[in-house]
Amino acid sequence: MGKPTRSQQQVLALLDRLNRPVSAREIYDHLSRESRIGMATVYRALDALRREGTIKVGVRANGEAAYSPLPLDRHYLHCLHCGCDIPLAACPLGHNLQPLDPAIPFTVYYHTLEFFGVCGDCQGVAS
Ligand SMILES: [Zn+2]
Ligand SMILES: [Zn+2]
Repeated sequence: MGKPTRSQQQVLALLDRLNRPVSAREIYDHLSRESRIGMATVYRALDALRREGTIKVGVRANGEAAYSPLPLDRHYLHCLHCGCDIPLAACPLGHNLQPLDPAIPFTVYYHTLEFFGVCGDCQGVAS
């Protein structure tokens, strides 16, 4: 694991600051306001950070990848109708995940868990 490059540091700092899952496009939109950074550089930084397990990647209802900082163990309910993302208050898996299967030597860096369905508003449930 090498020292993070400047663009990787920028991406990490932004993810920490936003503290929610964001797409590569949103990351680029934020960073390009602060400095001259290209979309390709953002993708390269995200890919390097992802491979090192420094950030995690989830998927939104529209299939777009969403990146978040590792300490953010948060899970979302994604509405397939309106596209809203509702955060769960706690991780449904709890925190005792290691080892998942004692027969498999594997070090878990992080997990993702996404739920897809229809929100209360879209079901016509008065809230
Ligand atoms: Zn909805
Ligand atoms: Zn979790």
